[in-house]
Amino acid sequence: MSLILFLTGVPDVLIRTFFIVRIVDNVTLNLDQMLKAKEDSVKGLTKGIEFLFKQNKVDYIKGSGSFITPNKIKVSLLEGGETEIEAKNVVIATGSEVAPFPGGAIEIDEKQIVSSTGALELNQVPGKMVVIGGGIIGLEMGSVWSRLGAEVTVVEFLGNIGGAGIDDEIA
Ligand SMILES: Cc1cc2nc3c(=O)[nH]c(=O)nc-3n(C[C@H](O)[C@H](O)[C@H](O)COP(=O)(O)OP(=O)(O)OC[C@H]3O[C@@H](n4cnc5c(N)ncnc54)[C@H](O)[C@@H]3O)c2cc1C
Repeated sequence: MSLILFLTGVPDVLIRTFFIVRIVDNVTLNLDQMLKAKEDSVKGLTKGIEFLFKQNKVDYIKGSGSFITPNKIKVSLLEGGETEIEAKNVVIATGSEVAPFPGGAIEIDEKQIVSSTGALELNQVPGKMVVIGGGIIGLEMGSVWSRLGAEVTVVEFLGNIGGAGIDDEIA
């Protein structure tokens, strides 16, 4: 706050000289670069977790797991082939899936009709976008594409937006 108040009284040339502020005109979107920055962040965070696995002596098997018995898991390995692991205790932490449309009426093809995963990978800014579900993720995705120029409409069946736990007075 004090920095802003301070700077408002200073001539632009001094701000540029002493604070190394470069004022850029004609800012344009480079969506490919933006998506690459996102990919780099995801890769960096994932590698960080792999490093923590190693440090803490956690075995990491890359593949898709399924139960054969309550104590035995079959893993179809990403690199090909299979392996089996046996354990007395198993934690299932497979995350969540986007709720399908009733009766499978509309397919989420991740191109025109996308989940939040697909919404992070659109290769161009849509002219118009409808977000079904005005919870945290829907509003986050909508606000990203809206700021990039899409005309966004949110559809929500509850009387307020923001999802469970949001303050009613601001929703
Ligand atoms: C767009 C978006 C933005 C979000 N932003 C935030 C945020 O800002 N802050 C926040 O706190 N939360 C945020 N969340 C929520 C957060 O990502 C989830 O709550 C969290 O990731 C759930 O963790 P999880 O470990 O339960 O599941 P996940 O992170 O989904 O992990 C499950 C993993 O299991 C793997 N898997 C599934 N099936 C199998 C199988 N059969 N074999 C092997 N592996 C399998 C999946 O590939 C996945 O890697 C966001 C979610 C989304 C979608």
